[in-house]
Amino acid sequence: MENTIEKIRDKDPEQKEFHQAVDEVIHSVKPVLDRNFEYRQQGILERITEPERVIMFRVPWMDDDGQVHVNRGFRVEMNSALGPYKGGLRFHASVNLGIIKFLAFEQVFKNSLTTLSMGGGKGGSDFDPKGKSDNEVMRFCQSFMMELYRHIGPNTDVPAGDIGVGAREIGYLFGMYKKLKNEFTGVLTGKSLAWGGSLIRPEATGYGVVYLAAEMLQTRRQTLEGKSCLVSGSGNVAQFTTEKIIELGGKVATLSDSSGYVYDEAGIDAEKLAFVKELKNIRRGRISEYKERYPEAVYIPVSPERDYNPLWEHKADCAFPCATQNEINAKDASHLLSGGVALVCEGANMPTIPEAVDIFLDHNILFAPGKAANAGGVAVSGLEMAQNSMRLSWPRKEVDDRLKQIMKSIHSTCLAASSEYGVEGNYVAGANIAGFVKVVNAMLDQGLV
Ligand code: NDP
Repeated sequence: MENTIEKIRDKDPEQKEFHQAVDEVIHSVKPVLDRNFEYRQQGILERITEPERVIMFRVPWMDDDGQVHVNRGFRVEMNSALGPYKGGLRFHASVNLGIIKFLAFEQVFKNSLTTLSMGGGKGGSDFDPKGKSDNEVMRFCQSFMMELYRHIGPNTDVPAGDIGVGAREIGYLFGMYKKLKNEFTGVLTGKSLAWGGSLIRPEATGYGVVYLAAEMLQTRRQTLEGKSCLVSGSGNVAQFTTEKIIELGGKVATLSDSSGYVYDEAGIDAEKLAFVKELKNIRRGRISEYKERYPEAVYIPVSPERDYNPLWEHKADCAFPCATQNEINAKDASHLLSGGVALVCEGANMPTIPEAVDIFLDHNILFAPGKAANAGGVAVSGLEMAQNSMRLSWPRKEVDDRLKQIMKSIHSTCLAASSEYGVEGNYVAGANIAGFVKVVNAMLDQGLV
């Protein structure tokens, strides 16, 4: 095990986020490896940590003033043992190969947990859509797809959205794919409802996060009713996590972006959330504008250099990190404990650093890792693929019921795996073990490929 981890570090020393994700999974599955000599003999760790294919490409595009820019595009096709590669595209200035590899690696186990037939992949670019006009974003998406289209397809690789890629970007990407291939197929998910999208897909990740949190609370005979909650982020996942918490009777006090956060002691209700959706999704503004509209709230700017985020210092029962990776460090975790938090449910991918995860587990906090908690998004993407194949559109309630069922099943699968391997109630180990075993057994069935 340690050998494999060391080799990965030596091969790509700069891919810190990928090392972090691999480290966590490999340590969690140690009891599985101990029981299955065949896994070691078959080089399973070496195979599962090496992407099946990495695609990197130039993305040239022209801004509104006629100036040419060049960004870097990525698609990491990590593992197709369970089905076509599936996973989102992230457009953010921080994107690099290590980040995309970590996301693709996590996606493999997440997709395995959903019970649907999907392999794992992830892609994106260091292009930042913030501050760009619609036309600039369109030209970038078209250029990105002019290369990506030859590597993807409804039975090969089906990308979706992630940070910086929402309905607008999916529309531009799909339009160019359709033109180049001259076919209308379900090659991307997160499409608009009018042309192949699924009801509940925009809501799915956030709703799924809260369904899983509700399941976890139920193991302690509790519900979200009356619980105070901290949510970070203010994008897709944060918005619909907030919406479902409100619907289930909880109270959300915070939302954030990369510049700072708002604290609204009275609670962010449905009307205030509608304002945030319009602010973020249509006007593409900053969360600081919340205070201008609701002066009773407080806005606190947060510099990235700070060694903790004051958002996590507020007293609350539950925390839902929904912005980005590594946003809760050990100091934040201690603040959350002092503030009385009893549940932490990750909406984002890997938002909690390993030392902070240990603090939560040591203190018996109900802690759900992103690969289990945010799997509702890709699960409904899987349902969108199914509807596209059948040329059907299921009603809202049907998709929502299926989502609830999938989240329930993820919850029970994680718990069952954790007790089978002697780490009862540890959702991190449970998710890693259950996700891993299914993928590995499929890889063994399919031979050395
Ligand atoms: P969005 O782009 O819709 O929103 C991202 C939010 O996080 C924004 O508020 C953004 O603020 C903030 N953010 C991004 N980077 C940073 C940073 N470095 N520091 C602080 N805040 C930051 O993305 P999503 O809501 O779709 O994704 C959020 C997380 O959820 C990601 O980890 C993603 O991988 C994960 N996820 C998303 C799924 C989906 O279906 N969309 C599915 C599963 C997981 P700003 O505007 O300032 O950048």
